[in-house]
Amino acid sequence: MEQQILRKQFLRHVAQTSPSPLMIEVAKAEGCFFYTPEGKRYYDLVAGVSVNNVGHANPKVIEAVQKQAAEYMHIMVYGEMVEKPQVTYARRITELLPDPLDCVYFLNSGSEAVEGALKLAKRHTGRHEMIGMRRAYHGSTQGSMSMMGNPEGCTWKNAFMPLLPGIKSITFNRWEDLEEITEHTACVLVEPVQGEAGVRLPEKGYLQALRQRCDETGAMLIFDEIQTCMGRTGEMFALQKYGVIPDIVCVAKAFGGGMPLGAFIASHAVMQDLSDQPSLGHITTFGGHPVCCAAGLAALDYLTENKVVESVETKGALYEQLLQGHPQVKEIRRSGLLMAVELGDSGKMYRMMELFKEAGILSDWFLFCDTAFRISPPLIITETEIRESSRLIWECLERL
Ligand code: PLP
Repeated sequence: MEQQILRKQFLRHVAQTSPSPLMIEVAKAEGCFFYTPEGKRYYDLVAGVSVNNVGHANPKVIEAVQKQAAEYMHIMVYGEMVEKPQVTYARRITELLPDPLDCVYFLNSGSEAVEGALKLAKRHTGRHEMIGMRRAYHGSTQGSMSMMGNPEGCTWKNAFMPLLPGIKSITFNRWEDLEEITEHTACVLVEPVQGEAGVRLPEKGYLQALRQRCDETGAMLIFDEIQTCMGRTGEMFALQKYGVIPDIVCVAKAFGGGMPLGAFIASHAVMQDLSDQPSLGHITTFGGHPVCCAAGLAALDYLTENKVVESVETKGALYEQLLQGHPQVKEIRRSGLLMAVELGDSGKMYRMMELFKEAGILSDWFLFCDTAFRISPPLIITETEIRESSRLIWECLERL
């Protein structure tokens, strides 16, 4: 009874993003699982959309959050006070990145990271034309949404027109489109692995060619690593995996270790453009909240101390090996533990979501690809858990 009231209140008082929310009540979460109040266990194969890389209720993260919350939380707007968790995290994360990416602007989310990066590119180049990729998702604020897909074919974007002017779309991996990048282009925004397009990997040399074209034209290259950062693809950052250094990299999701945290990272020299003429041209109240930075830092420590990232490729390959033989599976696209299992049919995919729910699995589809389901579990998933969850997925596939 109490639960029914809660569900009713959820639908009535909590703003909804779609007419069909999952409606699973969560009582607790641990490792790769979450549980309902009745004790039903779910395999979390979404990880909050590539957020919970170190697993739910990670003790290191809990300890860091509790400690920092007890010491101090919000004091003053971002950029004014010297807060140790923020400084330490900025230093640690930039030590992991190649030169010249050595300066972090902290925000609260992925969308905000993209917004900041776009503004920085405009300020730095003095240009305003910006190029995004078709079937790219960068967030739901108006700037980040402007960079999504192409206007003709994008339901989400069309519903909110007019958005930012001067945006062009090109197609990921279509090499001839690189000619669209010119001396008028302020920046090109790209996910090194397109997530919501249904896990699309860059063709060999494509990101290098993109880098080269940006260098020729003076356009800034921005990587959206919001879904790929913190080990998801088998390297701490996908830019390391694909060997290309952008001018700006956007991070969020797993960057906060389960807490809301985003950032864009560039060279100190480039970043200076946001701090003067005008000063305060980009500001945030909560960006880089000390508790979120402490959580992100603890998650990073956990990843490195336990060599979690080193195990990601093997784990992804095991999933692939266990699932690829099923006749319903048409293709598996994968970078580390970011995986799309292609069924080739949206009806089948939606049916799988129902079967998954019954079987105690949380999966999801992709914004621009509803014929495939997602496997992106916490990176700490064990071999036994991979085998068991694959068996459950296999049983669902059998019932299709
Ligand atoms: N960029 C990518 C690649 C994403 O996957 C997302 C969220 O799914 C975002 C940006 C937006 O992040 P947020 O929801 O934190 O604003």
